[in-house]
Amino acid sequence: MKREKYTGYFGEYGGRYVPEILIPALDELNAMFIKIAEDNEFYNDYYSLLTNFSGRPTPLTYAKNLTEYFGKGKIYIKREDLNHSGAHKINNVLGQGLVMKRLGKTRAIAETGAGQHGVATAIMAAKMGFKATIYMGEEDVKRQYSNVFWMKQLGAEVIPVETGAATLKDAINEALRDWATNFDTTHYVLGTACGPKPFPEMVTHFQSVIGREIKEQIMTLEGKAPDRIYACLGGGSNAMGAFNEFLEDKNVGLIAVEAGGKGSNTDLHASRIAYGKGRVGVSQGYKTLFLQDDDGQMKDTWSISAGLDYVGVSPIVAHLSDINRVRALAATDNEVIDAFKLVVSKEGIIPALESTHAFAGLFSEIKNTKSEDILIVNMSGRGDKDIFNVGEALEDSDWKKFVIERGEQYAD
Ligand SMILES: *Cc1c(COP(=O)(O)O)cnc(C)c1O
Repeated sequence: MKREKYTGYFGEYGGRYVPEILIPALDELNAMFIKIAEDNEFYNDYYSLLTNFSGRPTPLTYAKNLTEYFGKGKIYIKREDLNHSGAHKINNVLGQGLVMKRLGKTRAIAETGAGQHGVATAIMAAKMGFKATIYMGEEDVKRQYSNVFWMKQLGAEVIPVETGAATLKDAINEALRDWATNFDTTHYVLGTACGPKPFPEMVTHFQSVIGREIKEQIMTLEGKAPDRIYACLGGGSNAMGAFNEFLEDKNVGLIAVEAGGKGSNTDLHASRIAYGKGRVGVSQGYKTLFLQDDDGQMKDTWSISAGLDYVGVSPIVAHLSDINRVRALAATDNEVIDAFKLVVSKEGIIPALESTHAFAGLFSEIKNTKSEDILIVNMSGRGDKDIFNVGEALEDSDWKKFVIERGEQYAD
C-alpha cells in the first residue's frame, strides 16, 4: 500500500485545478507541508496542543451492552465526541493553526456548511491570536444560527454568501476569492480531506492522530489490530483519520459509510461511491467523484446529517475504493435513526447523526460477523447539536411542544 507521497495525485484523482492567481499560495503551503510532515518536533508541538487544549488522547470505549445485545463481534467506540468542540474537526484546525504560525500568517479564513468547521476555526483563531473570517451561505446562516452566534462570540467575522444557491459551494468560491487577494497575510483553513493539493494529504496527516491512538489503544486492550474499522464518509477527514495508519495492514477491513438519505432509487442522498452514482469531474480545485448531472452540473444532495451532505469526496478515499482497500456502504436516514436509538439507549452515548452512519453500517453487517472479531466505530462527534433533526424524525410530541413552539415564540 506504499504510495508516493506529496504528488497530490491518488490514482486518477486529486491534483490542483485552480485559477493561476492561487498557485503561489498553494506552492507556499505545499512546501511548508512537506517540511512539517516528517518533522517530529512539529508533531510533538501539535500533539501537546491537542493534549492540553482538546483533551487528547480520546478514549477507546468498550461497548459492552451493544456487544452483548448482538452476541457477535466485540465493539469498541473511538470517542472523538470528547474533543473540545465535540468532534474531530479540531484536530485538523489546530494543526493548520500551527502551520499558519510557521508561515507567519495572521488571518484565518474558512468556509463552513453546517457551521461545525467554522466554529472550530474560530476557536483555533481565538486561542492562537489570529483574526478569522468565516464564509457561510446565507441559507446555512439561517439554518444554523446557533453556530453563527458562537463564531461571533469567539471573535470571528461571519460573511453570509448570497451568490448561487447560497450554500456551501458558494461559500467555498468566496473563500477562494478572498485567499487569492490576501494570501500574504491569510491562510485558508480547509475543513476536510478534499480540495486542491496539498489539502487532502495535509488534512489526512493531522486527522491521522485518531488512527495512531486507536492502534496503540487496541494493542493494549486486545493485543492485536482490529478486524474492521467503520467511519462515516462526508468529505473524508474522519474516515482517513481513522484509516490512514492501517492502510498497509491488509487484515484490517476499512469501511466508509456514506449518507444514503432516502435511498438509492431516489436523488435524495449524498452517496458518491456506494450507490455508484458519482462521476469523475473537476470542481472546487480538485478531481474526484462528484454527484453531477449529464451536463456536469453539481446535483443537490440530501442527508439527515448536515455534515455528510456534500457532492464531492476525498480523492484519497475515491482511490482507495477503486483499488478495493476501502469498502463503501451507505446508510439511509431511517437506518440511521434506528441505530441512533439503539446506541443512545444501550451505551448512554449520544452520537452525532454523521457518526451514527458508521454505527448503522456496522449494525447492517453484524450478521456476518464472527464472535471474536474486533470492530471499531470511529464516533466522529457528539449529537447534542442534532436535537432539532432527531426530535423531528422521532416525532416526539413533547419535543414539538417545548422546542418548536418555544422557538416560534422567540422568533416573534
Ligand atoms: C463535519 C463532520 C463530519 C463529516 O466530515 P468528514 O470530513 O467526512 O469527516 C462527520 N462527523 C462530524 C461529527 C462532523 O462534524
